[in-house]
Amino acid sequence: MSIYFSGRLRSLVPYVPGEQPQKKPYLKLNTNESPFPPPPSVAEAVAAEANRLQLYSDPDSRALVEQLAASKGVKPTQVLVGNGSDEVLSFAFQAFADETHPLCFPDITYGFYPVLAELYRIPYTCIPLREDFTVDPLPYIGCGRTVVLANPNAPTGIALPLETIEKIVRANPETVVLIDEAYVDFGGESAILLTEKYENLLVVQTFSKSRSLAGGRLGFAVGSEKLIADLHTVRNSFNPYNVNRMTAAAGVAALREQAYYDENCRAIIENRAWTTEALHALGFDVLPSQANFLFARSERIGGETLYLELKQRGILVRHFGASRIAAYNRITIGTRVQMERLIDTIKTILEENDP
Ligand SMILES: *Cc1c(COP(=O)(O)O)cnc(C)c1O
Repeated sequence: MSIYFSGRLRSLVPYVPGEQPQKKPYLKLNTNESPFPPPPSVAEAVAAEANRLQLYSDPDSRALVEQLAASKGVKPTQVLVGNGSDEVLSFAFQAFADETHPLCFPDITYGFYPVLAELYRIPYTCIPLREDFTVDPLPYIGCGRTVVLANPNAPTGIALPLETIEKIVRANPETVVLIDEAYVDFGGESAILLTEKYENLLVVQTFSKSRSLAGGRLGFAVGSEKLIADLHTVRNSFNPYNVNRMTAAAGVAALREQAYYDENCRAIIENRAWTTEALHALGFDVLPSQANFLFARSERIGGETLYLELKQRGILVRHFGASRIAAYNRITIGTRVQMERLIDTIKTILEENDP
């Protein structure tokens, strides 16, 4: 740390992303990317746009916003796009939380929420998940706080039904309820259409998981016109050109390929069921996932040990140190061939570990 680093930030502990090895060719099952590349039309759109990089992007990303709005059945004024949903979350935390509207979110959830809260010095409370890792809705009812819920949750994969989300939104008219739907395309129910009914609901989604564009960095929010206008105020005070030309073009092209992505999601859901069963057969506990990953533990091997053994054999999964979930690993669902390699490798490890 330099002597110049702001006193405000000295205690900041940054978010640690999953490993992104640039050399050794690992089987990457650690950051919930899609195993499928974007369709050729997306690459073509990006290549065409590269010829116009001397020009700034459209600060309103109109073509993309209009197409997104049409695909979600809302008005363009109800949509904001960002440089990954992490940026959209950052705008929303700045816009809708402060000392008088402190944050609350589960103790086990996306690790970026507490980091953003610390960065912006927003007080926050972590509400424990129930013993079975489901969200107990009660503490969120009329809580007087800005609520942030990932649905399905990460790293558990467990989804709340839409009616529970609506109950929480309805019970907090004084604060914003932010639903992070990064994984909704793998079996969850989206709250987007509820934004017509509730001024305090903000739904955030990403192109990183189901749409094979993690490297493109594209996320978006849908909410009432007033909430979205507030987010634009923050965005235009930070980086008006927050979505670059190539990514905006990729997004527009991706939205025309719904059938391709639907088929990929179907394959992931099928592989998720296959992998769940295979892990059960090996004696693992697997949480019921509606996402493109599984959260699993075995009494036969510690969470960190399994993570390290898999890594040594060229497979990366995600292990978290927090004591409540240290026995678990989060495993991204890939292709069937990748899942077969994972299961075979786990079998070998278990046999060597406990013959
Ligand atoms: C992956 C993820 C994000 C971030 O996605 P980007 O759009 O790539 O920034 C947001 N929320 C949750 C819960 C995620 O798992």
